[in-house]
Amino acid sequence: MQLAKSMSRLGTETAFDVMARANQLRAQGKDIIDLSIGQSDFRAPQSIVEAAVKAFRDGHHSYTPTRGILELREAVAQDIHTRRGVKVSADNVLIVPGGKVTMFFAIQLFAEPGAEILYPNPGFPIYQSLINYGGAKAVAIPILEENKFAFSADAILERLTPNSRLLILNSPANPTGGATPRSELEKLINGLDDYPDLYILSDEIYSRMLYGEHQHASPLEYEQVRDRVILLDGWSKTYAMAGLRLGYGLWPADLIEHATRLAVNVHSCVNAPTQFAGLEALTGSQDEVEAMFAEFDRRRQFIVPKLNELAGFNCHDPSGAFYVFPNITGTGLSSATLQSRILEEAGVATVPGTSFGNLGEGYIRLSYANSIENIGLAIERIKSIL
Ligand code: PLP
Repeated sequence: MQLAKSMSRLGTETAFDVMARANQLRAQGKDIIDLSIGQSDFRAPQSIVEAAVKAFRDGHHSYTPTRGILELREAVAQDIHTRRGVKVSADNVLIVPGGKVTMFFAIQLFAEPGAEILYPNPGFPIYQSLINYGGAKAVAIPILEENKFAFSADAILERLTPNSRLLILNSPANPTGGATPRSELEKLINGLDDYPDLYILSDEIYSRMLYGEHQHASPLEYEQVRDRVILLDGWSKTYAMAGLRLGYGLWPADLIEHATRLAVNVHSCVNAPTQFAGLEALTGSQDEVEAMFAEFDRRRQFIVPKLNELAGFNCHDPSGAFYVFPNITGTGLSSATLQSRILEEAGVATVPGTSFGNLGEGYIRLSYANSIENIGLAIERIKSIL
């Protein structure tokens, strides 16, 4: 067999490997607390489930338009207007099976040998994987603890070259929980005038999960760059719908046709009942999901001081999403060794920081999308092996 060389450059998302190992240990009878995978432990609100069931019953079993049903695209455009204050057209919305698909398409459109794509490191691992797969140069933007895990505009601007094609931003961020302050975003945007061909992929999948004083800031809000912003968002995190696979991209006018062509080559359209579920999610009551975010905030306030009590741990207070990314250099162990010992000896699944890029060494990621009781127990168990 002679596989295409590009396949050897494709990475993975280790969180799924950790989940598989945790399930294997469970099958052997071990009691595992899973703080590894980034998905809500809540169920999707019942009204969303009912909307999907109704769509099944009403006979929505056919292909939909590739870009998605019009009502859903209009609801997305309305939601963007409500939450980001920007009027956009439903014609620029492409509904896809999960947030990852917008990422795949955006990177696919720009990655080729000679092109440079900037991505956050540590960051969601699929960015770097897909840049490498496409043969482009992956240029790491260091995301530093000393900067509260927000990007530094200067660090980005000094890495731009005439070959830079795409800049990937993620706020609030996986795995750090860092969020971009508006002042830093403005500084970045003001520096982009010299790079008119640079597009921005803004991954805002955690935009509804921000805590304390933090307010979401999107590059889409800035007219100077609006026609170069690809906005990635979806339903997986916000509405606890990760397994239903639903996401969207808002594409600039000159890219939407290209993205749609990729979609028609890959999946034709998204499962129709899921689209109706997504419509109900956006247009129905937000009370349940708001209560879910409040509960995540309560857990965040619980887990951070607890982690700071652990010998060798130093945990920064995250601004958003549902992850903590403690610095574990004080334990004297590497991220991978500590993660493996915590899983095998303490029965707690976490993800090593290096799964998110080489700059994740010295950290582990824990998801607090789990009950306070389980989080407390997990930390007791980690303490006992430290
Ligand atoms: N973007 C970020 C930053 C994520 O953390 C994730 C999932 O963990 C995704 C995108 C992908 O979301 P989805 O499950 O909808 O494909």
